[in-house]
Amino acid sequence: MAAASADRAVAPELIVVTKYFPASDVELLTELGVTEFGENRDQEAGPKAVETSDLELNWHFIGQLQTNKARTVVRYASAVHSVDRVSLVKALEKAKARFARESEIPDPYQLREKKLPVLIQVDLDPAAGTDPAKPRGGALPAEIEEIAAAIAATEWLTLQGVMAVAPMDADPAEAFGRLAKHHESLLASYPEATWCSAGMSHDLEAAVAAGATHLRIGSDVLGARPSLG
Ligand SMILES: *Cc1c(COP(=O)(O)O)cnc(C)c1O
Repeated sequence: MAAASADRAVAPELIVVTKYFPASDVELLTELGVTEFGENRDQEAGPKAVETSDLELNWHFIGQLQTNKARTVVRYASAVHSVDRVSLVKALEKAKARFARESEIPDPYQLREKKLPVLIQVDLDPAAGTDPAKPRGGALPAEIEEIAAAIAATEWLTLQGVMAVAPMDADPAEAFGRLAKHHESLLASYPEATWCSAGMSHDLEAAVAAGATHLRIGSDVLGARPSLG
């Protein structure tokens, strides 16, 4: 077992990523005892969350998030793992405050009065920020502090930890080792930011060894994703 070999007291939490899979699979998984689910696009997650809102489960939002989607994501996400800029912190805070205030907005997951836990997504690509054409995969390490301070200054968001996707063509152990260092520095100022969301199907052992508390696993649980066609 990866957790045993990393000599950890607590096994990491499994988040099953159900993108491209139907709500009926989510229901089957809840019957097997899965309670934590992940989605990376609001367009897909929103309707799926409505369909599954009678089940006992939590949705984790794990994908790149446009500020104009904050309004809907706060209605079903029990945590947002992919906060990578101050403008998104502000959009989530505004959306969450509005959701809390406007009692006519449906609240099937009973989230209205709860604070929203958010994680800072860190771009672990060593070349991050040097090529403007490269799509952003999180905040630059140098931006973490500013984003953390922005989250701490909100009324409705809590800083829950850090998240990352290992860069392609790189050693995940080395990359997750850097994430662990960023997490450690963050914890020094924000001791409640205990989550480290790292590890997907192909690199989960390296993530566990580096101290991941939450694994985001899709294909190892559900099989290969249906193609987008
Ligand atoms: C799809 C996805 C996962 C799961 O990937 P698998 O390789 O299927 O385990 C994890 N994290 C993010 C951000 C994803 O988009």
